[in-house]
Amino acid sequence: MKVRYTYRLRPGARAVDRLVMDAGLARWVWNQAVAAAKAKQPWWTDKTLTAARKEHDWLAAGSVVVQQQVLRDFRASKHRKRFKSVRRTQPSLNYTLRGFSLRAHDTGRVRLILAGRVSVPVVWSRPLPSVPSSVRVYRDALGHWWASFVVDIDDDSNHHPETGKSVGIDWGVARPATATDRTFDLEHPNLGRKAAVKLAAAQRRMARRKPKPGVRASRGYQAAKRQAAKIHERLRNQRREISRAWAAKVVASHDVIAVEDFRPRFLASTTMARKAADGGLGILKRALIEQGQRAGRQVVLVPPAYTTMNCANCGTRAKTRLALSTRTYTCATCGNIDDRDHNAAVNVLLRAQTTLGAGLDPADVEAVRHEHPRVLAHAESGIPRL
Ligand SMILES: [Zn+2]
Repeated sequence: MKVRYTYRLRPGARAVDRLVMDAGLARWVWNQAVAAAKAKQPWWTDKTLTAARKEHDWLAAGSVVVQQQVLRDFRASKHRKRFKSVRRTQPSLNYTLRGFSLRAHDTGRVRLILAGRVSVPVVWSRPLPSVPSSVRVYRDALGHWWASFVVDIDDDSNHHPETGKSVGIDWGVARPATATDRTFDLEHPNLGRKAAVKLAAAQRRMARRKPKPGVRASRGYQAAKRQAAKIHERLRNQRREISRAWAAKVVASHDVIAVEDFRPRFLASTTMARKAADGGLGILKRALIEQGQRAGRQVVLVPPAYTTMNCANCGTRAKTRLALSTRTYTCATCGNIDDRDHNAAVNVLLRAQTTLGAGLDPADVEAVRHEHPRVLAHAESGIPRL
């Protein structure tokens, strides 16, 4: 199974210059490829690139491995291919085996050596489990550089022992996660409020100092922007940490993990607070799925339809949708009274068990997506981040 291991880089001034230059040229190659595709011209190939490098010395000054990788990424990209602007994109570079190596420096520390003889010190916050097959080097909004290595880890070595237990999870705004076993509920961490005030202030400052089109952004604007980015990043990190700790607990105690497959877009309509909550739920859901898969657990994604309307006790469907403010589910047929989210969590688990009981082949799930829960195959979730 392929996973990502990410480390902070501490490139010197010369390395930064080179990385920024290579990233600029990579962006140029990408934009040429987009332009050709948009103009219905033949797609850029390695040959087109070789010709362009012969024609332009400034292009040939950049690393050929990086530029060839851009074309491979371009061909492989399933998203709509857009132009990348200097202002809106941070430098990002992909290197395959040919373009990087890890080598011990005179000091004994292992450094990352990139195409173009760029040598970068790495903060080895934890060991790499095996030899990486590729690396993405990028700068974040705060100006920090990172290396994200793709490594293959042994599938079975990380598997947890069986527990004989299953759990259903329902996501919500008031309480991020409600579990069938209430000891695994995740209450709202409330870390947003103070940060939200600070963030709003920074955003107001940004709006006030926003440069007119064609005018250079003022220093005040840049400072406000950096501050907003910093608050964002801190919040994201806190959420990620809480999410990971909670997911680890759930994964350690259950063989089958049934998860409501909510689409964040359904919730993210009105307020900023809602949007922030959605972002948090996205991180939480991803953490649970990734850790579950890595531990060899059966992770089942259940479509959210009717999970809040059905009675988990007798299966009767309520005639009307529950208002969001109604926190209790009351069944008119069997008299079952339950916390609204807990009732939904039980429904999520019941549906997953029906599916697994029916012996549904995970590979077939696309065809029955709307009637049955989706069993997540290892391969389809892409490469989880560690
Ligand atoms: Zn009932």
